[in-house]
Amino acid sequence: MTTTRSTPPGKVYLVGAGPGHPGLITLRGVECLRQADVVLYDYLVNPVIVEHAPLSAELVGLGHHKLGRAASPAEITARMLEEARKGRTVVRLKGGDPSVFGRGADEEEALRAAGIPYEIVPGITAGLAVAAYCEIPITHHAEASAVAMITGRERDEKGESHLGCGLADFPGTLIYYMGVRRAADWSSALIEQGKPPETPVAIVRWCSRAQQQTVRCTLGTVAEAVEQHDVAPPAVIVVGSVVDRAPEVSWFASRPLASARVLVTGSPGTAEPLRDGLTALGADVLTRPTIRVTDPPDWGPVDAALGRLDEYDWLVFSSANGVDYLLRRLAERGGDVRWLGGVKLAAIGTGTAERLARYSLRADLLPEQFVAESLARALVAEAAGRRFLLPRTNRGRQVLPEELEKAGGQVDEIVVYGSVDVEEPDPSVVAALDSSEIDWVTVTSSAIARSVVRLYGDALRQTRLASIGPLTSATLRELGYEPAAEASPYSTAGLIDAIVRGGLTKG
Ligand code: SAH
Repeated sequence: MTTTRSTPPGKVYLVGAGPGHPGLITLRGVECLRQADVVLYDYLVNPVIVEHAPLSAELVGLGHHKLGRAASPAEITARMLEEARKGRTVVRLKGGDPSVFGRGADEEEALRAAGIPYEIVPGITAGLAVAAYCEIPITHHAEASAVAMITGRERDEKGESHLGCGLADFPGTLIYYMGVRRAADWSSALIEQGKPPETPVAIVRWCSRAQQQTVRCTLGTVAEAVEQHDVAPPAVIVVGSVVDRAPEVSWFASRPLASARVLVTGSPGTAEPLRDGLTALGADVLTRPTIRVTDPPDWGPVDAALGRLDEYDWLVFSSANGVDYLLRRLAERGGDVRWLGGVKLAAIGTGTAERLARYSLRADLLPEQFVAESLARALVAEAAGRRFLLPRTNRGRQVLPEELEKAGGQVDEIVVYGSVDVEEPDPSVVAALDSSEIDWVTVTSSAIARSVVRLYGDALRQTRLASIGPLTSATLRELGYEPAAEASPYSTAGLIDAIVRGGLTKG
């Protein structure tokens, strides 16, 4: 080893990420992720969870043989030790609980042998999650006094005969992990030992994730059911009479956007309410901004305008970012919201109005149809002889100022923030789009339409586009993409509603 003696090894956190729902990692797990220099994560881990790591952290997906490449346990351990020896804080993030069929013990042993400090953070294992997400009571006072977690894939050196051994008489629920491929082996072993073939069975794939899928069958038909429904791993298979106690459709599966996977694009500030709203309805949301928001190239004109706010009749905001940047600058200049006391406020879009509300400001004008034209119409009536201040981005539509000027208004535009396109598409998003794993992509402005098409191009044909309004839809059409849903009204809530109404399946 070549590390200098002066670098003490970094700490390794072996963290359970839970079964997949982003909320099912522990608080301690999130704390560890926030300190990470490097995150080594399994394919079972929902990539949304990895987003808790700082932007500076190196994120290493360990892959899966299905994806063409998987790191071997030896490679993973070697990488973990190597990173820790560099003095980096390592989070080794595993699906479920690190010690349940996760080879956690082997990794701990290697860390102890290498003298590297570590901490273990438990997680909710997949077999326990089925109780909540499928409402299968894995223990039940009348039916099951015990639970067994079993691997359906015995290691070769132990031989096949162990697969059902002694388990037929187990006084409770059997939960098989990794049991899909060899369902025929372990189920027939159980039956041979006397477990009734009519014992109820539930096969639960991707438990707690948007794409959760449940297949009900019996012990005698489990292998057939796997084949018929084309069930691929990861799935846990629950065997026992308690399966019949579960409702046909669980609370989880009956949410309006259950099983939808949505890619939220846009700028970080505007993506947040959309992500939260969609998640609350059950969607699995990936957030990948296509635009980065920056300071304006020159604060000079902004500061000048802030110095003479009392000369304006109207301050017209067209985005939440515009609100944030102007009000933050105002505070930096020693001001507060009282500086806006004499000017009327107009907001395009409820998102913009909601952002004003964060600063205890209420828009005087919030047009019913939330597009620039209708705001113009509402303002035009009284534009003559009035002065308007329009904070905006370094690029944007010019309709509003033109209309106001035509109607005799005097308009000053100031660039309060810059927006820069994200240059490189995220490869994991491209792969997910290509394999039709994303049901919806949200498009919340014409600029975003252009950047989404530039970043993802043809891969967008494998998904559906949800547009925020008619202008954005028009831009998408110009670019050759027909939106599958359009928000009405033009707002975050309207967009979510359009997706719910649009349903989940393509076509
Ligand atoms: N440490 C993990 C298990 C890893 S072994 C845990 O505690 O959950 C991999 C197996 O776990 C898969 O083959 C599958 O049987 C099960 N599994 C993991 N996550 C799952 C999920 N979200 N839904 C269903 N099964 C899952």
